[in-house]
Amino acid sequence: MTDQTTTRLRPRLFGPADERTRPGYPDIEWSVWITGMDDIHELDEDGQPFDLLAALQFAAEYNAGAAADYDGHPYTPVIHAVVLHWGYAWSQKSEHAHGVDCGVQRCGPCSFDRDFPEVAAARKAARATAEEGASDAG
Ligand SMILES: [Zn+2]
Repeated sequence: MTDQTTTRLRPRLFGPADERTRPGYPDIEWSVWITGMDDIHELDEDGQPFDLLAALQFAAEYNAGAAADYDGHPYTPVIHAVVLHWGYAWSQKSEHAHGVDCGVQRCGPCSFDRDFPEVAAARKAARATAEEGASDAG
């Protein structure tokens, strides 16, 4: 509760890597963050860890319910369910922009990388070398 200044700031969910807010946990692949309440759901209704599809379904249903319940009063908080991937807000576009597997089963580029991991690793290494100037020794 001492974090009022940081929680009041609007998080940058999809910005560049060094400015992106990570509202969730880095060690959990898929979760759903409920803004406003700042709740993070790690398990689906059956108690199983989310996969992308289950997380999207949970978020969609939650958002539909929140929209239906919203009374429009200015003091009523607007609540969204946001799918998180490794703690970061997920969108297929942002995952690709950050060079991460988007998790979509039928995604062309990502499924190619899954089928040919050595090619993906070589591309990732080349990308890391190109960005080496910004890395620190830490
Ligand atoms: Zn993809």
